[in-house]
Amino acid sequence: MNFASIKNLFNSNKEKQKYLSCEYIQHGFNADYADIKMCCMNTHEGGGRQVLIPDYYGENIDWDKFFKEKREMRELNKKGITLERCKGCFFLKEKEWDDEDYIDFMVFNHWTRCNCKCNYCFTAENFEEFAKRPNYSIFPQIKELARRKQLRPGGEVGFGGGEPAILDEFEPMVNLLIDYGMDNIRVHSSGIKFSPAMARGISEGKLNVVVSVDAGTPETYLKIKNVPTFDKVWDNIRKYAQAQCENNGLARTKYIIMPGVNDTIQELEKWFQLTVNAGVHWIVLDIEGGWYLWNKNKVPDNIYDLLDYGINRAKELNMIRCELYDRANDMNIHRGEFGH
Ligand code: SF4
Ligand code: SF4
Repeated sequence: MNFASIKNLFNSNKEKQKYLSCEYIQHGFNADYADIKMCCMNTHEGGGRQVLIPDYYGENIDWDKFFKEKREMRELNKKGITLERCKGCFFLKEKEWDDEDYIDFMVFNHWTRCNCKCNYCFTAENFEEFAKRPNYSIFPQIKELARRKQLRPGGEVGFGGGEPAILDEFEPMVNLLIDYGMDNIRVHSSGIKFSPAMARGISEGKLNVVVSVDAGTPETYLKIKNVPTFDKVWDNIRKYAQAQCENNGLARTKYIIMPGVNDTIQELEKWFQLTVNAGVHWIVLDIEGGWYLWNKNKVPDNIYDLLDYGINRAKELNMIRCELYDRANDMNIHRGEFGH
């Protein structure tokens, strides 16, 4: 058999089939605090976060078994069966899926330590307790996945936590992901510790970092973050922005509106000025999750006005994008429904 016919045989065995499924069922991996899950979505009817390996604390992963379990889920999808935990999920879509065993969508959420103390963080419940919690190492497993040639570019890699830059394995992990061609890595960082690997990812166009400063003055920053690192954070944002190739928007700043704390146009405008001065061309807006949950149906006019100001100001300043995260997006979509 010549090379062309072998190649045809290979391709014919990998015929794609159209059915309802999602990227995470097919090729997803979420290293969570005490287990390995399929994804990190949890706001829909089914609740998401399907556990693939329970009680996981850094042991060797049996990748054959892992992919076998994924194949079983895929087979259910092929028969038109939606997993209970996936019911109602926005990520389900009908399309042609390949039938291969690899990972290209990854989420790292396996630690809770941070060098910041944001009032709106889940760790605010008990900063000291969350800061003390040990985390397992996932890097050896990702190295093995790469050795098996089952780590592929094309999807997304996200770091949650905790602060990623203070993880011992963060620098080698990001470098490995970049070396293996992962080209859509997103890191949410406090910005307090500079990461050379992140700067490398930005300079090679493969990684974007989002730093939520939430303030345009040190006083407001301190009220929200409880650490005196305002200037240091803007210095690091500037360094990440300088690593950008042709201002491609990979260094990003975020403003989470906290009603009663940073909800003035003056504060937001100062944040815009610092953002522009740092050389950032992509911004993100959001609203504090806990507040929004309780006030979703009675958002006051000044909060809508502030969101509008942010969206319009981003246009005036020629930002590449003003990205609205979940709550701000929801608020924007449902505008008008509750009398606004
Ligand atoms: S359909 Fe939704 S809940 Fe299910 S794996 Fe995909 S992202 Fe997760
Ligand atoms: S930077 Fe992120 S992880 Fe750290 S305290 Fe703030 S919200 Fe929490």
